[in-house]
Amino acid sequence: MCGSPASCIIVRNLVSSQGQTVTKGNDHRIKGGGRPCALCHRRLPLCDSHLLPKGIYRLLRKKATSQGPVHFGDGYSYSTDKQVTDYLLCLDCEARFQRLGEGWVLRQCYRGESRFRLRSTIQSIAPDRQNADIKVYSLTGNPAITPAESEMLIYFAMSVFWRAGVHTWRYEGRRIGIDLGPYLEPMRLYLTGEAAFPPRVILVIRISSLVKLAEFMNAPEGRNENGFHFHSFTIPGLTFLLFVGGWLNEQWFELATAPTPARYVSISPNADITALMNMAAVRKKSA
Ligand SMILES: [Zn+2]
Repeated sequence: MCGSPASCIIVRNLVSSQGQTVTKGNDHRIKGGGRPCALCHRRLPLCDSHLLPKGIYRLLRKKATSQGPVHFGDGYSYSTDKQVTDYLLCLDCEARFQRLGEGWVLRQCYRGESRFRLRSTIQSIAPDRQNADIKVYSLTGNPAITPAESEMLIYFAMSVFWRAGVHTWRYEGRRIGIDLGPYLEPMRLYLTGEAAFPPRVILVIRISSLVKLAEFMNAPEGRNENGFHFHSFTIPGLTFLLFVGGWLNEQWFELATAPTPARYVSISPNADITALMNMAAVRKKSA
């Protein structure tokens, strides 16, 4: 069921104009005649695009027991099989996101106690820096990770933050999204390949230290922590933080994933414990 305008059709094995298979055997809904594609601005039929990749729902669904995947948002949580989607991107742009980020990241994120490829790879070499609470690894300095793969991790993160900023997503009466203000358009140009990584933007990626992870995802939201405002989202094993603004401390660039050339990622057990405690509090409040 499309649940929206009559022009919506369900198709299978869609192939973009550049020859990429977009749907890979899954039913996919597309609709024409409405607004232009949010990324390329062309008037083309739009896909029923996901805020967070469909593959993550599948991954979480496999792991969840009696309930569906758990989503956490700004002060709420819910278990559901329903996905946050809307008609946003044309087939070419869906394929671009898949090819330049999502496919690789979904293979690398936490997929079970014995399968968390990205963490295994980064821990195969010594951290660049560490103290009692945090270990910082350079992706650039790791021979098992190519520069193109590091870029896919960054591209994926930026694509999700941009999706959350360019559109007001709705889910059961809630609005999901973040305000990226003047940083939204530079992010779009980065994602289309027309510009480099945007200025005055810092992306920080944290990798979970936990052996067994709670199966959840966290849609992009604005957060305040230690007096700073930033945006964040979580998929299994990976937390993405985005800082924007003219007030950014130059020192922060030194340990970031982007734009820092060393492409740092960090593992911090204390941060993981804090996140778990926050989740437990939200779950209790929502119960
Ligand atoms: Zn497009």
